[in-house]
This record gives sequence, C-alpha cells and structure tokens, in this order.
Amino acid sequence: MARVDYNLINMNNCACCICTVQRHVSKCARERTKRIQALEAREIDAISLLKPKEFPWLYCSTGKAKCDDLDFEEECACSECEVWKEYDLGKDDNVDYFCKKMNFRIVS
Ligand code: SF4
Ligand code: SF4
Repeated sequence: MARVDYNLINMNNCACCICTVQRHVSKCARERTKRIQALEAREIDAISLLKPKEFPWLYCSTGKAKCDDLDFEEECACSECEVWKEYDLGKDDNVDYFCKKMNFRIVS
C-alpha cells in the first residue's frame, strides 16, 4: 500500500471526521477533535504540536486509532475521500477501516 504522507493537506482531505464509525459514538474522538479545533481557532498549528497518534483521523497514515470506543458496525467512509483516490488506496486488499486494521505507520 502507498505510504500516505502525514501533512495538513491530507488531514483536511480526510473523511474520518464525517465517518459514522467514530463521529457519533466516540467520545474519545470527539474530545480529540475539539482539542484540535481549539488550537486551530487560535491559529496554532496542531499538526506540528500534537503527536500523530493524538489525531482522530488520517489513520491510513498514522495507523490504528488510539480511541477504543469506535463503532465498526458503521460503514467506513474512506472510499469517499480525496486521499484514498490520490494515493490509489483501493488497489490493495486492505482498503478501508484503517482505524481498526492498520498496524504500522507513524508511532510517535
Ligand atoms: S478509517 Fe475509515 S472507518 Fe475509520 S474513521 Fe476513517 S473513514 Fe471511518
Ligand atoms: S483513506 Fe480513510 S483514513 Fe485515509 S485519509 Fe481517507 S478517510 Fe482518512
């Protein structure tokens, strides 16, 4: 699978923030999202300030979610996102639910 860059452009194009797997049920993801939005509201670069594992999205780059309250009965939105298309992630077997399955990537 292509290595997905951990950067602001990909963050902004990631669909995890609208995905029902974590959007409705995950208190943990909501709190992390609020924290990032609060930094952005103060024009602070959250990407450079927070560790990748703290971000509740872009799992195809960072690896499995650290939050443990996601609902995997819901449908993954990865195939709707621009990153998925740009990196042609659909060409491999492991094409979705990166928040559940991805075992490697950025670990800091
Ligand atoms: S990796 Fe897929 S299932 Fe997980 S939050 Fe992102 S879009 Fe949803
Ligand atoms: S493929 Fe999934 S995890 Fe990766 S950027 Fe898109 S929505 Fe996010």
